[in-house]
Amino acid sequence: MRALVYEGPGTLEMVSLADPVPAAGEVLLAVLAAGVCGTDHHIVAGELGVPPGMVPGHEICGRIVALGSGVEGWSVGDRVVSYGQVVCGACPACLSGHQNRCVSPEGFGLTRQGGFAELVPVPASCLVALPDSVTAEVGAIATDAIATPYHALVSVGRIRAGESVVVVGTGGLGMHAVLLARMAGAGRIVGVDSSPAARDAALAAGADDVFDPTTQKDSERALRSLARGSSLVLEFVGRAETVELGSAALSPGGRLVVVGVGHDRPRLPPLIRFIGTEISVHGSFGSTLAEIETVIGLIAAGRIDTSQSVGRTVPLEDGPAVFREPPSPARTTLAP
Ligand SMILES: [Zn+2]
Ligand SMILES: [Zn+2]
Repeated sequence: MRALVYEGPGTLEMVSLADPVPAAGEVLLAVLAAGVCGTDHHIVAGELGVPPGMVPGHEICGRIVALGSGVEGWSVGDRVVSYGQVVCGACPACLSGHQNRCVSPEGFGLTRQGGFAELVPVPASCLVALPDSVTAEVGAIATDAIATPYHALVSVGRIRAGESVVVVGTGGLGMHAVLLARMAGAGRIVGVDSSPAARDAALAAGADDVFDPTTQKDSERALRSLARGSSLVLEFVGRAETVELGSAALSPGGRLVVVGVGHDRPRLPPLIRFIGTEISVHGSFGSTLAEIETVIGLIAAGRIDTSQSVGRTVPLEDGPAVFREPPSPARTTLAP
C-alpha cells in the first residue's frame, strides 16, 4: 500500500509499505478520508518525539475490507470512523465510558500506524458506523475537530442556554466550539485569535465579535470589556498567555475549560478570587466514543452545519506539501 511516512523532523514521504493484516479483534480499513489535525503538524515538525517510520493521521474514515478473527457486529463493506486512540478497555476510566482518560492508550500516528495510508488496521472496539448521508471527509474530522470541542463545551463546560462564551483560539477545533456553542443556545460569543483567517472562521461559525489580543495594550482588560461577562471560556491554544487571558475574562461563577495541550505553567488568579467569585478551571481531553456517536448523529440529522468544516481534500501524494503550510481553520483532508 501507499502511505505517508514521517521520516524525521520536517520530513514526510510517500512510500510503499506491505499491506497490513488485521490482528484478532481488528478490522482492516480502506481509508476514504483522513483529517489533517494540528497534532499531525506537531508530529511532522518533530515536536512530539514520534519515532521515524510512523504513519500519522488519527482522524480516520474508511470502509471495512477485511475482518480479523473474533470480530462480531461488523461486516466487510461497512463505512465507519475510528476513535483517535486505541484504549485498553479494562481500566476504571474505560470501564466507566471515559475512554479519553484511559491510563494506557495507544495513539494512531503516535505509537501505532495512522490513517495517512491506503489501509489501516483498527480494533473493532474503536469503530463508529457512519451513515451514508455524512461524507467521509466530514466523518473523519468529526471524530476530533468536532467531537473534542463538543466534549469540552457540553460534558466538561456544561454550557447552559443563554450564557455568554469566549473561545480563545478559533482554528480547526475552536471554530467548531463557536459553531456548537451557537447551536447549544449560547448568548454572546466572542472568538479570540491573532490570525485573521481564524477570526473570519469564528465569525462565519456564529461569533458575535472577534478579538485580536496582539493589537491590544492591555488585552485582558480589553477582552473583559468586549465579552461583557463570560461564564464559560474555552481555551484551544495551550500556552500560558492564552490561558491567562481566558481566566481574566471569567465572570463570577465562570468556568475556564483548557483544551489546548502544552507544558507551560500559567499564572492563575489568586485563591481569594477563586473562592470569592467561585470560578473554576478544568482540563478537557478528546472525547468519548459515545460523544463521537452523538456528534455523528447530530451531523446526520442536519443539526450541526458542517459546510465550513472541510476546506479542501487533497490526494495522499500531495500530503507532504500540506505540511509546508500552516494549518487552516477549515480542515484539510487526505484521500488515498
Ligand atoms: Zn487531532
Ligand atoms: Zn483504559
